[in-house]
Amino acid sequence: MTELLASPGNPSSLHSSGRRARRQVEESREKVARALGARPAEVVFTAGGTEANNIAVKGIAWDQRDKDPKRTRILASSVEHHAILDPIEWLVSSDGFTVTWVEVTPTGEVTPDALRTALGDDPSDVAVVSIMMANNEVGTINDIAALTAVTAEYGICFHTDAVQAPAWLEVNFAALGVCAMTVSAHKVGGPHGVGALVISRSCTVTPLIHGGGQERDVRSGTLDTAGIVGFATALDVGTARRPETVARVAALRDDLVAKVAAVIPDAVFNGSIESRLVNNAHFTFPGCLGDSLLMLLDAQGVECSVGSACNAGVPQPSHVLLAMGSDAESARGTLRFSLGHSSTQADVDALIAVLPEAVERAKRAGVPRTPATAGMHS
Ligand code: PLP
Repeated sequence: MTELLASPGNPSSLHSSGRRARRQVEESREKVARALGARPAEVVFTAGGTEANNIAVKGIAWDQRDKDPKRTRILASSVEHHAILDPIEWLVSSDGFTVTWVEVTPTGEVTPDALRTALGDDPSDVAVVSIMMANNEVGTINDIAALTAVTAEYGICFHTDAVQAPAWLEVNFAALGVCAMTVSAHKVGGPHGVGALVISRSCTVTPLIHGGGQERDVRSGTLDTAGIVGFATALDVGTARRPETVARVAALRDDLVAKVAAVIPDAVFNGSIESRLVNNAHFTFPGCLGDSLLMLLDAQGVECSVGSACNAGVPQPSHVLLAMGSDAESARGTLRFSLGHSSTQADVDALIAVLPEAVERAKRAGVPRTPATAGMHS
């Protein structure tokens, strides 16, 4: 990437530098396609997962409504990332669409039965269904092939946000039966600000960004050659090493979970341990505000995440935990520890060494009352 950053060449230019950059982009497209079980022509490079999700949800919804004005309903799970929730809420508030949120189990999973219930007796008004492959907060994995088997009965377009998946799971676009799938480089060890929408040739979208038409008729804008090469390399290397990485990180995560339970006996482990990304450990620490705990741990050199969003400076409960049936107060006391391919036993031990005191101090600070404005998707 650093070599490419120093070399000129727009991959859409016809001169030698441009053709050299184009070759790098197309070789990267082949690598990304190979790693994801797709064809190179199905890979549309974007500036990350958020953009790919917006193209999928808005682009497919608009295209479907153009073809059949009755198709104005969108289905998505209630635990999607904001890069899915917010475009849908915008389509509902500003563009005449309606939404049916698909309910999840207490461990955050979408079942084929729940999808059928949300589709209802007459799903002929559905424009697009979007269900994530793996949840970014609690790591729950959905059986996407079982879900697309349901929508295939009605010929409904299915998009999956697979941003969290390829680092830890084998992803085969062709076998999943989806029309479109989102991936992001920085979740597979690549750079920020680059990703892809994998989109089957039979699926058409109305573009969001008009211009030079660099990525078929789906997306315009000069491509970031260095970022794309970084993305493809990370995915390629990560896929080859995945079996070893998964085994090592799963053992570390299980150790982390056991040790947290030993030092903080009232900590609640959220989600399912089986159907879950191996790098994810997610807890509720009763009586603590997740944000306080995060800052106390950060001061000790442990960087972790809360699921909650911040609204006007007040931490809001995680919409994922609420959808899984948690009460608002518990949903604000959550913390996610994510391991990466470079995590070690020393990292886990460093967390366990500082966690009891951080929890003690966060409990003393207490949890302010949840404001009445806290909404599920705010
Ligand atoms: N979808 C999921 C499930 C994510 O976890 C993320 C990022 O964390 C995104 C979408 C957004 O991707 P990006 O950061 O590449 O815009």
